[in-house]
Amino acid sequence: MTTHELWQAALGELELSLSKANYTTWFRNTFISTFDDARIVVSVPNTFTKAWLEKKYHAAILKALQNVAKDGVREVHYKVELKPSAPQDIPTSVGSAPAVETAANTQASSQEEEVSEGSKDFSLNPRYTFEQFIVGKTNELAHAAALAVTEKPGRYNPLFIYGGVGLGKTHLLQAIGHKMVEMNPRTKVLYVTCERFTNEFIHAVRNGRGKEFKDTYRGLDLLLIDDIQFITGKEGTQEEFFHTFNALHQSNKQIIMSSDRAPKAIQGIEQRLVSRFEWGMMVDISTPDLETRVAILESKCKEKKYELSRDILSYVASAVQSNVRELEGTLNKIIAYHQFKNLRASLETVRELVSTMNNAAGSKKNLTPKDLLDTVANYYDIAVADLLGKCREKRLSFPRQIIMYLMREELSSSYPSIGKMIGGRDHTTAIHAYTKIVADIQEDEKLRHDLTLIRQRLYSTSS
Ligand code: ADP
Ligand code: MG
Repeated sequence: MTTHELWQAALGELELSLSKANYTTWFRNTFISTFDDARIVVSVPNTFTKAWLEKKYHAAILKALQNVAKDGVREVHYKVELKPSAPQDIPTSVGSAPAVETAANTQASSQEEEVSEGSKDFSLNPRYTFEQFIVGKTNELAHAAALAVTEKPGRYNPLFIYGGVGLGKTHLLQAIGHKMVEMNPRTKVLYVTCERFTNEFIHAVRNGRGKEFKDTYRGLDLLLIDDIQFITGKEGTQEEFFHTFNALHQSNKQIIMSSDRAPKAIQGIEQRLVSRFEWGMMVDISTPDLETRVAILESKCKEKKYELSRDILSYVASAVQSNVRELEGTLNKIIAYHQFKNLRASLETVRELVSTMNNAAGSKKNLTPKDLLDTVANYYDIAVADLLGKCREKRLSFPRQIIMYLMREELSSSYPSIGKMIGGRDHTTAIHAYTKIVADIQEDEKLRHDLTLIRQRLYSTSS
């Protein structure tokens, strides 16, 4: 086996346990540089990747290499090196794109109030800073990538952050904006939602101010564009964004985008945009784990100078799992309620309040086992009857365990009743399934991502 084949085989293994975004981000442009005496040196394109592989993926890489290499691998090291003949990760000439306009001669345009230069009075939410962002397993990559961008703008370009609602994408985007202005007050930063970009563009064209619009955007140092998935179907806007993107990218200006899904999964956008979105670094964010949710609540309490006991925080964190926005919303209601009633919060009062909130929102309470079955079956593209059946193929047994896990987590069903509902199984099977998935979640980021998506489907269809 050549070193190339060896690395491809190891990558094949690694790919199975990582989300697509992480896999692409960390393993693109890597190769085995040397392999002698059971010692492998893996070449990576930059120091950020090196640090991350060493810190996060070393054990997995070593194991994958050991699995595939017959003559044994004892050590793996990483070194920054570009593949001599590898195509550079830099765009080639861009066909019909207009010449890059670097001069930032922004006239008084409608966007100018938002272009920050030497001041902090732009439309960034002052709360959305790195300091106020709690890092956990499911967002640490996005957080690290965001920080890395502020250290060397233009290097990971564009940065594409994706994940479900309320998980901190906007927060991170704006944190980058704050930090860049803090480091250099002259940085021209623009935060804009995709919707606003679209409206302004249409407006500018209609009023014959297309040139000003172009100048404003192309004179930026940092463009933060939020919820880019909304660009689907809008051809004129896509065209304009394409050119803006190219102009900024060519002059090494940083572009950061957020989306609720990966570029490839955004329907109705041109292929050339999809490929540009994937040029730099893609990172995903998924639902925070329990520990992180508690940490987030703690930090929000501190910020609001309101004290809640550890018990209460744990209770709230386990009752609200879907996303951080809801977690925060629940906390706000708890605080408002107790302040209004002039009551000291106890586990009892909080429990009662949260349960009435759940009833009112109709979220958790209205969810039925059937919703769970249908959603999971649909997600994994298998028939409900097969989920309930006896077949033990992994293709079926794994989703079956997911169902049992979710019945416990989302419906608080008892183990015997879970077993009974899932094809008349024993309660020990349900316990086993639940504990297995709980353990898997710790290890497997793809699973965490899948669970986030499943929960989002669950709660978006049942409400
Ligand atoms: P998204 O853009 O992904 O829908 P937001 O960035 O608007 O989500 O986040 C929703 C709310 O949750 C915001 O108030 C944000 O400050 C908060 N939030 C999200 N993630 C975190 C985190 N890791 N630490 C602290 N607050 C967070
Ligand atoms: Mg957002």
